[in-house]
Amino acid sequence: LQNRYAQELNLPAETIDGKRIHLYLNAGLLSSLESEIAEGSDGVGLYRTEIPFMLHQRFPSESEQVKVYRQVLEIACGKPVVMRTLDVGGDKPLAYFPINEENPFLGWRGIRLSLDHPELFLVQLRAMIQAGADSDQLHILLPMVSSLDEIDQAITYLEQAYFELKSDLGKDIFRPKIGIMIEVPALLYQLAEVARRVDFVSVGSNDLTQYMLAVDRNNPRVSTLYDCYHPGILRALKRARFDCWQYHLPVSVCGELAGEPIGVILLVAMGYDQLSMNQGSLARINYLLRRVSHSDLSELLEMALTLSSGQEVRELVREYFESRE
Ligand code: PEP
Ligand code: MG
Repeated sequence: LQNRYAQELNLPAETIDGKRIHLYLNAGLLSSLESEIAEGSDGVGLYRTEIPFMLHQRFPSESEQVKVYRQVLEIACGKPVVMRTLDVGGDKPLAYFPINEENPFLGWRGIRLSLDHPELFLVQLRAMIQAGADSDQLHILLPMVSSLDEIDQAITYLEQAYFELKSDLGKDIFRPKIGIMIEVPALLYQLAEVARRVDFVSVGSNDLTQYMLAVDRNNPRVSTLYDCYHPGILRALKRARFDCWQYHLPVSVCGELAGEPIGVILLVAMGYDQLSMNQGSLARINYLLRRVSHSDLSELLEMALTLSSGQEVRELVREYFESRE
C-alpha cells in the first residue's frame, strides 16, 4: 500500500471535484527534508528551530544559525518555508538553559522566553532574515502567542533586525512574511485584531487541544482525555476557519491532526486548504485527498459536529471510509 501511495506523490493533492489542498512538511532535522521536499510537498509548513538548538551544547551563534537556515531554504528549492522562532519550555528542554517551574506548560515557553531575552531573539531573527535575504521563500512564525501585545513587540524586534541587517549588508533584502501559531484558545476570539497585525496564522492543534481541554498532552494518566476530535474543539476549528476567511487571513494547520486521515477529512470539510504534516503522512494524505469529493465531506462534517464525543466522531468518519472501500 505504501508503494501505491508513493506512486502518486508527484501528483497534486486535489479532490475529485477539483479542490486543491496544499500539503506542507513539518520538520526539525535537515535529514527529514531531503528527498520529500522535491517530491510531493508544497514546501515546509513548520520548521521547528528548537531542534537544531537542542543539538548544540550552547546557544548557536548568528553565523551557525544562518548556515542551518540557509540549508533548509536550499533544500526547499524555492518553495515556501515557514520557520518558527525558538519554542522551548513546556515539554521541550534545552540542556544549557534549564527552566524549573511547577507548571511548565503554563509557564515560560515559546515567544514569552524570546521576548524576555531580546539578545537571543534578535540573533535568531537576524539569522533567519539573512538566510532568506535573496528570495521571498521565508516566512517567520511565532509560537505560543497569547496576547496582541506580544505580536506587536515581536514585530518591533523583527523590524529592528530587518533594518539593521539591511544597513549592515548594504543592499536591498527580502522582508519575510510574519505569522503566529494559534495555540492559546483566547486568540481564537481575536482573529480580527490578529489579521491586522500579521500575514498568516498556523493552527497548532496539539497545544490548542491541550489548552482547550486542560489536558497535559504528554501525561499518560489523562491521555484518553486528550482528544483533538472532541466536538468542542472541532467547532472551534470550524469557527476559526470561518473567521480567517472573513478577515482575509491565510491559515494553515500544522498540529498532528493535519496528518491524520480522519483529521484531514474534517479539516478539509471546514475549508482548510493548507495542511502541514510529518514526512511519514504526506504520501498517504495525498492519496486520500485524490479520492474524496469536497462536497460529500460537508455533510459528514455537519453530522460530526452534532455528535457528543470524539470517539463517536472517529467512528463516523471510519464508517465513511469503509463505505467507500
Ligand atoms: C502544535 O502545538 O500543534 C505544534 C505544531 O507545535 P508543537 O507540537 O511543536 O508544540
Ligand atoms: Mg505547540
